[in-house]
Amino acid sequence: MIKVVFFDLDGTLYESEVIRKKFAEAAYTTLAELKNISVADAQILIETRRDELQKKQGFPAPYTLTLVSYGLPIEMWHKHNITFFDPRDYLKKDPMLKKVMQRLKTNYKLAILTNNNDTQSERILKALGVEGLFDRVFTYNTFKILKPDPEFFKQAARALDVKPNECLVVGDRYHVDLDPAKQLGMSIYEVNGPEDIYHLPDSL
Ligand SMILES: [Mg+2]
Repeated sequence: MIKVVFFDLDGTLYESEVIRKKFAEAAYTTLAELKNISVADAQILIETRRDELQKKQGFPAPYTLTLVSYGLPIEMWHKHNITFFDPRDYLKKDPMLKKVMQRLKTNYKLAILTNNNDTQSERILKALGVEGLFDRVFTYNTFKILKPDPEFFKQAARALDVKPNECLVVGDRYHVDLDPAKQLGMSIYEVNGPEDIYHLPDSL
């Protein structure tokens, strides 16, 4: 029996091409500063590395994991992206998402499970108008662990006092958000953005 529904944040609760671009630009400028090179050169390094990782792992590498592969301290990355852009400038409230979350909340505990940081996550939830609806918001800052490390999922379940088979994980990246959860015995629900979440209550 499902007791907790975990949601990934970016690309799952909202879809935004502008934010995806801002995120990429933030990654380029962060690596440029770390390596003391131009932003254009950093872009080439990052996109080349992403292609390599994709070939090696068989799935698109998120920017955060690409930067980590360059030895960039994750705290430095988060500090940069927090000052580089504010998601509230690009997102608007999603009343349908709010309704769905309120409906789910009557039967399940709800939690966010994201590789993003506390500050950006809080900004995004506020911008979407769904802040305060989640029992817990687990970010990178919570345990200093990143998906797809199964430990992130395990510790989050433990914090909510539920077993893996009592968890449903909703996310947009199969290899990062869902496969590790599935390996642990959690249920999974793959989405291509919030529209797919609108139908979630009916499929439970
Ligand atoms: Mg995502």
